[in-house]
Amino acid sequence: MSQPNLKTASRLDAIKPSITLAVTAKAARLKAQGVDVISFGAGEPDFDTPEHIKAAARDALGKGAVAKYTEVGGTAQLRAAVAAELGRVHGTEISPENVLVSCGAKHSLYNLFIALLDPGDEVIIPAPYWVSYPDMVMMAGGTPVIVPTSPDDDFTMRPEALRAHVTPRTRAIVLNTPSNPTGAVYTKAQIEALAEVVLEKNLLVVSDDIYRSLVYAGASYASMAAVGPELAARTILVDGVSKTYAMTGWRIGYTAAPTPIIKAMAKVQGQSTSNPTHIAQVATIAAITGPQEPVEQMRKAFDERRKTIVELLRAIPGVSCREPKGAFYAFPDLSAFLGRTAPDGKTMSDDVTLCDWLVDAGKVAVVPGSGFGAVGHVRLSYACSMENIKEGVGRLRDSLLSLR
Ligand code: PMP
Ligand code: GLU
Repeated sequence: MSQPNLKTASRLDAIKPSITLAVTAKAARLKAQGVDVISFGAGEPDFDTPEHIKAAARDALGKGAVAKYTEVGGTAQLRAAVAAELGRVHGTEISPENVLVSCGAKHSLYNLFIALLDPGDEVIIPAPYWVSYPDMVMMAGGTPVIVPTSPDDDFTMRPEALRAHVTPRTRAIVLNTPSNPTGAVYTKAQIEALAEVVLEKNLLVVSDDIYRSLVYAGASYASMAAVGPELAARTILVDGVSKTYAMTGWRIGYTAAPTPIIKAMAKVQGQSTSNPTHIAQVATIAAITGPQEPVEQMRKAFDERRKTIVELLRAIPGVSCREPKGAFYAFPDLSAFLGRTAPDGKTMSDDVTLCDWLVDAGKVAVVPGSGFGAVGHVRLSYACSMENIKEGVGRLRDSLLSLR
């Protein structure tokens, strides 16, 4: 008998597993084995979902109201709530018809690239970038075009760098402000300067706004769609409840986009997942339309942690760390430690080796910067307790200082 042919699609050959999820899974595995690891891995709030949101879900469950499929793109009530909320944030009129609710913003982005890209279409992604953008573009048959940015510009993309990377195949740019992993927040003036190139080169903008509510130190979220109607007409808004409302596990994200794009995305979703979970849609309505005080409380707590983690990281000789002004990540530069050798004889040839060693020997999990297109940096999520931050950065410090 012949062996079964277990070859998988060549489409996936160049696709890497998500490093953020891999680091988090490794830390969780070690913890389950009884190893005391502190994880700065996945960007996931440690808070529980606010009570009024859970109550709305419990009520709906009690009434038997959530056992059925909904419309593929989400209930009319939820789409209306999202349209109103995004319309308010971006200062534009958004129709519920132009909203599609998906199973997390990650799913929204995946649907979008599948719906948008033909083979060879290019998508401009400023680096450092969230790990999943390039791989999603590639899975959709597109070509990611990475635009390096400089720490001197706070890792924001300059308009001339954008212009220099546009080709006749460029369809869109990805804008993620506040940024995962750098915590950079584009100013209104920076967004307006990029908008000029976007118009000049006739591009679309994928605006991943998942961290827009988490800004600190006087920074504020600036919207590309708010620059003017010509920008609103070419900006695809991707947003969700995971980070703002501590709802990562509920898996709800949404997109607001021009009609042809939203229709194509709905087609993809209708032939793949169908609607996102009904009970999570009910919870999301409560999140968006209910009291926003819990969001402010969580933001304030993140801000305190942000200040502490940056201070502790900067106090480690050899570590430099810019001030993140949004999201919940610190992104220190550890390149001074590459090439050094540990007491156990292991040499830190690159940031992946360094991060592996940190978790095995130092019992502290951080994500290597190379996954974000920034070799030599590492990412720490500070969406964890102050205790963890103090103990975890202490471990990082001891480990780094033991390298020779
Ligand atoms: N965009 C960015 C930049 C992210 O960091 C994440 C990570 N959670 C997502 C999108 C997707 O979030 P979710 O699928 O939980 O809505
Ligand atoms: N987006 C979060 C992170 O960057 C969650 C994990 C993921 O989906 O990548 O850590």
